[in-house]
Amino acid sequence: MNKPKKKEDLSLEELFARLDDMGVTTPEPKKEPTPAPKPQPKPAPVAEEVSPSKGAKFAEMEAAYVFMTAGKATVTLVSLKTNDRFTYELKVSDDEERIYVALMTGPDNNSSFQFLGTIFRDRDSYFRGKKSKIGEDAKGNRAFKWAWDHIATRTPNVNLEIWHEGSCGRCGRKLTVPESIASGLGPECAGRV
Ligand SMILES: [Zn+2]
Repeated sequence: MNKPKKKEDLSLEELFARLDDMGVTTPEPKKEPTPAPKPQPKPAPVAEEVSPSKGAKFAEMEAAYVFMTAGKATVTLVSLKTNDRFTYELKVSDDEERIYVALMTGPDNNSSFQFLGTIFRDRDSYFRGKKSKIGEDAKGNRAFKWAWDHIATRTPNVNLEIWHEGSCGRCGRKLTVPESIASGLGPECAGRV
C-alpha cells in the first residue's frame, strides 16, 4: 500500500522560488474587525498614594521586600484581620548580613523605636533578639514574624498591608516623585538596591 510518491525534484533555486510564490500568493489571514477593547482585569498595580511625603501602601510583595531590605526603612504593617498596625524600622548592618528590626513603641516616630529582632540575610530569617525588651508573645513581635514570613517568600495575604511612611527605604529622605512613592525608594537609591 505505497502511496504514490510525488515527484518533486526541485533545485534549491526552484524551491525558494516556489516558497516565495507561496508567500506572495498566500492570502493574508482576514483580519476580524478589531473588537472593542475588553475591560482589562486591572491596570498594572501601583501603590496607593495617600499624599506625597506621607505614605503609601505597597501593591506587591516584591516591592515591599526590596524596600524593607534597602538599608534604612520605616515600614508599617497592618493586619486587616485584627486591625492592629505596627511601625518598624529596619536597618541593614554594616556588613550587610543582618537587618536590625526595631518596633515603634511610642507616639514619637523618631525616637521611640525599641530593638526587636534581627533578620539574617543568608536565609532571610527573622528572630526576636534575646536582648529585646519586647517579648516573644508581644503582638508587635508576632505581627512582624507573621508579616515577614509572607514578605520574605513574596506570598501575598489579603489581611496584610504594608505601608511606607513617605521616606526612602535606603536613605530615609522624603519621597516626592510618584514613582518613588510607589516603590518607597528615591530616584537615586532605586538604582542602588
Ligand atoms: Zn534614598
